[in-house]
Amino acid sequence: MGTVYAIANQKGGVGKTTTAVNLAACIAEAGYDALLVDIDPQCNATIGLGLSKDAEMTVYDVILGDVPLSEVVDRTAIEHLWLARAGPDLAGATVELPRMSGSETRLREALNGVRDRYAFTLLDCPPSLGPLTVNALVAADRVIVPVQAEYFALEGLAGLLETLSLVQRELNPRLTIAGMLLTMHDGRTRLAQDVEREVREHFPELVFDTVIPRNVRVGEAPSFGKPVIHHDPHCAGSDAYFELAKEVAARG
Ligand code: ADP
Ligand code: MG
Repeated sequence: MGTVYAIANQKGGVGKTTTAVNLAACIAEAGYDALLVDIDPQCNATIGLGLSKDAEMTVYDVILGDVPLSEVVDRTAIEHLWLARAGPDLAGATVELPRMSGSETRLREALNGVRDRYAFTLLDCPPSLGPLTVNALVAADRVIVPVQAEYFALEGLAGLLETLSLVQRELNPRLTIAGMLLTMHDGRTRLAQDVEREVREHFPELVFDTVIPRNVRVGEAPSFGKPVIHHDPHCAGSDAYFELAKEVAARG
């Protein structure tokens, strides 16, 4: 049975998409079939893997319509890595979804038919706790929470954890937190060290040992339509995402 991970944090710019794309690429590199589902209307994961955000059918038609997920899955340039593409029309889903009955389980149902084809399915969430993120949390077995190693990092995490327990209680008792991931960590600064200490103190056992460094190669890889491990396999960012993949697999 494949495992489904939601990559979620209602803050924007904390490294959700970067983590989704690069973790999926590391899993694929290890020889496992991985599916990345882009459910953010910004389509950054779709574009970051070199695919078009203007396809006729997208995840929007899966969640809001009756299109099977397999029809919006593309093979990427990377062996073992598939992508369910997003489109900008997903922005409308935030308004349309709550009007549908059973709206929280649309993505879970769509995944039912395909999840066992992939060892790992990763859901790249939009920066909100709205209906799309709730759909991802209902569909997922585990959630990974990227936390940017900057001031205000902890702000909003309490709200996110509340949403997670609400979803666990009401909609998806299976859901567990795989871990919180410190991202864009600049080890040279006092601030990053302080934030790391604070997050680890607040959430002992929940924070991954692996820390993703701030790294130019990680930031520029999407402009080449590639994960960082294919853009520069030996940079510090690639090393960190390989380590993360091992840790995620070890945590099961
Ligand atoms: P989110 O999906 O949470 O909005 P992104 O993954 O898109 O966040 O990251 C926000 C920005 O920061 C992007 O421009 C991305 O390329 C950049 N970025 C993310 N992680 C790193 C990193 N480790 N080092 C350098 N830049 C990064
Ligand atoms: Mg994103």
